[in-house]
Amino acid sequence: MSEASPQALRAEALEAILIERGLLTSAKVDDIVQRYNERVGPMNGARIVARAWTDPQFKLQLLDDATSAIGPYEFDGGQVDKLVVVENTQAVHNVVVCTLCSCYPWALLGLPPTWYKDPAYRSRIVREPRSVLAEFGLELPKAKSVQVWDSSAEVRYLVLPQQPEGSAGLSQDELAELVTRNAMIGVETLPAVSG
Ligand code: FE
Repeated sequence: MSEASPQALRAEALEAILIERGLLTSAKVDDIVQRYNERVGPMNGARIVARAWTDPQFKLQLLDDATSAIGPYEFDGGQVDKLVVVENTQAVHNVVVCTLCSCYPWALLGLPPTWYKDPAYRSRIVREPRSVLAEFGLELPKAKSVQVWDSSAEVRYLVLPQQPEGSAGLSQDELAELVTRNAMIGVETLPAVSG
């Protein structure tokens, strides 16, 4: 990671030209970067998940029509015209991909990780989900079925992970701290809380 990727160099060059021509200011660029770092990210998805764990009415609404359930939050970051939330249970594990490109619910999860855009993940997770999940360190019991959801420009998916064992008495904020980005994509589950 010591050398900049071709994409990073291209982005830098573009930024320099736009600033030079007066079409963009570096302050504006810094604003956008800050917005994505601080306000658009997996903490938004985590709040939704923690609320669903503690508020059965909200959970029903979320699973029925996630787009309207999250409407009042007014998350920015875009990329979620239609959101579908799929629930992990004892019987089913859900995992999300975009086989065509890299569609992803930015407003809830921030920018997608590199592996999500990798052609290997995109093709293999559909054909051999259990092997790919095992490579992420997630060994699923044979009895559990795996459901793979293919995102598109129209529909973005978010996984509602199972609530960690031992977390029953925690507040929504404390629960949100336990929720990881990868669990909301479905490539990991959340470990039990000890103590
Ligand atoms: Fe895509």
